[in-house]
Amino acid sequence: MGAGAAGLYAALVAAAEGASVALVSRSPLAETASYWAQGGIAAALTEGDSPAQHAADTLAAARDMARESAVRVLCEESPARVRDLQELGVRFDADRAGNLALGLEGGHSQRRVVHAGGAATGRRITRTLSALAATDERITVLEPVAASALATSGDGRCVGLTVRRRTGDPVALPARAVILATGGMAALWQRTTNPRGALGAGLSLASDGGALLADLEFMQFHPTALRLDGPRDGFLVTEAVRGEGALLYDSQGERFVDELAPRDEVALAIHTELERTGEPAVWLDMRSVEVERFPNIAATLADVGLDPARDLLPVAPAAHYTMGGVATDLNGRSSVPGLYAVGEAACTGLHGANRLASNSLAECLVFGRRAALAACEEPAPPGGQAAIAPDPRMTEPPSGETRAALWRHAGLRRDAEGLSELRSDPYPLARLIGAACLAREESRGAHQRTDHPATEPGLDCMHALLGSAGEPEFRRWQ
Ligand SMILES: Cc1cc2nc3c(=O)[nH]c(=O)nc-3n(C[C@H](O)[C@H](O)[C@H](O)COP(=O)(O)OP(=O)(O)OC[C@H]3O[C@@H](n4cnc5c(N)ncnc54)[C@H](O)[C@@H]3O)c2cc1C
Repeated sequence: MGAGAAGLYAALVAAAEGASVALVSRSPLAETASYWAQGGIAAALTEGDSPAQHAADTLAAARDMARESAVRVLCEESPARVRDLQELGVRFDADRAGNLALGLEGGHSQRRVVHAGGAATGRRITRTLSALAATDERITVLEPVAASALATSGDGRCVGLTVRRRTGDPVALPARAVILATGGMAALWQRTTNPRGALGAGLSLASDGGALLADLEFMQFHPTALRLDGPRDGFLVTEAVRGEGALLYDSQGERFVDELAPRDEVALAIHTELERTGEPAVWLDMRSVEVERFPNIAATLADVGLDPARDLLPVAPAAHYTMGGVATDLNGRSSVPGLYAVGEAACTGLHGANRLASNSLAECLVFGRRAALAACEEPAPPGGQAAIAPDPRMTEPPSGETRAALWRHAGLRRDAEGLSELRSDPYPLARLIGAACLAREESRGAHQRTDHPATEPGLDCMHALLGSAGEPEFRRWQ
C-alpha cells in the first residue's frame, strides 16, 4: 500500500521473489514525499567512511533514543541498496573522475550523501522504480485507489485490505501480507514541507486494525522551508545547500547557529529567534553556493521572483518528517501478524528523537527489501471471497482547525495545557499524537516541552507504544 520509494522498492523485491503483487496508490507519483526528496541517500560508500561511523552519527543525532539494532541494519545495508539502485538504472551524480559525488548534510561527520540531478534525487529514483513496476508482469498497479480498511481474520491476522476508487463500491483484496508504505503525517500540521496527502493514513488504518504505533511525539521540523505568502510557502530548501556553504542570518544580519548542526538544533534556534523578534522568517544566504548544482531549487526560486545569487531567502521551520509510526521489528513486521510497515509510515526506532538527514530514503530501501522478503514467507490468505472490512473513514482529511491545533499545540515547543486540548480533537490521529506528546514529560530532540525542559536520562531509549485507546506505554526495544 503506497507507491513512494518504500512501496515501489518493496513491490519490486517481492515480485522478484515470485510473489504476485498489487500496488495500491491513492495519489500520482508526483504527489509522494519520495518524489519531492532533494538531498539524497546516506550510505557509507568511500574508503574513509564506514557503517560504524554512519551509525555513530545517526545515534548522536537521535538524542539517546535510537534503537541500536535498527541503526546497525540501516548503516550496514544502505551501501548495497545504493548499488541495487544503480543496477536498476538510477544514475547518481558523479565528479569529474567518475566517482560518486557525495554531499555533506547536518549531523554527518563526513560527505556520504549520494544524489541525482542536483537536488532531484527523489524524482530520479521514483521515476526509475515506477517505470520498472509498471512493466513488471507480477505487479498490478491500482491507482488512483485508496485503501480504506484492513481485513483481519478471526485470529487477528491481517489477510488483506479494502480499497476504494473515487467512485464505486469498496472492493476486497485478499493478501498473504499487507505492507503499509503510506508515508508520514507531516501534512496534518498547518505548515509543512510535505505533499498534502501525507496525512498518516497508514497509521490510522493500522491503529484501527489493532497494531501498535510508536514515538508519535517525535515530528521533525525542517529548519529551512521558504516562508512566503501563497502556494510555495513551505517549499523545502535542502540542507545540502548549507553543506555547500549557505549561511543563516537573523534580522540584524548576524549568524546565530551552526548551520550544520543536527536538524532539531537548527530548527529550534530559528524558532527561538522568531519568537524573540516576532519576525516571520530568518534569512538563508545562498550567494556563495553554485546554484546550478540545485536546478529544481533554482527553478522554484525563479518562479517566486527570488534570485539566490543576489537575494537572501526568507525561511522558517515546517513540519517535515514523522519519526514515529507503526511499530515494527527489523523486518517491518507490525504487532498484527501479516501486517508490515516500511518507510516513513513505520517506526523501527531508527531515528529516535531526531532523524539524521538523508537516512529516510535509505530506510525505505533497506527496510522495504527486508519486509518484502519476510512478507513472501507468510501463509496464503484463506480461500473464498474475502469480506469487505468495515470502512472506519479514518483516512478523511482533517479540518483546518485540526491542522492549526497541531501546529499550535504540538509545534516546536509544547506544554501540557495545549496538548490536553489535542486529546479532545475530533481527528483520531491528532488525539493519539496529543496522548504521546503528553506522556513524554521531558524535552528531547524534536519534542520540546516548556513545562518539562530537561531531558530525563531514565527515558533514554524508552519508546512510547500506543494502542488505539491512546494510553502510551514506555518500552525499551532491543
Ligand atoms: C521536500 C522533501 C524533501 C526530502 N528530502 C529527503 C532527502 O533528500 N533524503 C531523504 O532521505 N529523505 C528526504 N525526505 C523524506 C523522504 O522523502 C520520505 O521520508 C520518504 O520518501 C517517504 O517515502 P515513503 O515511500 O515511505 O512514502 P511516500 O513517498 O510519501 O509515499 C506514500 C505513498 O502512499 C500512498 N498512500 C497514502 N495513503 C494511502 C491510502 N490510504 N491508500 C493507498 N495509498 C496511500 C500515497 O499515494 C503514496 O503513493 C524529504 C521529504 C520531503 C517532503
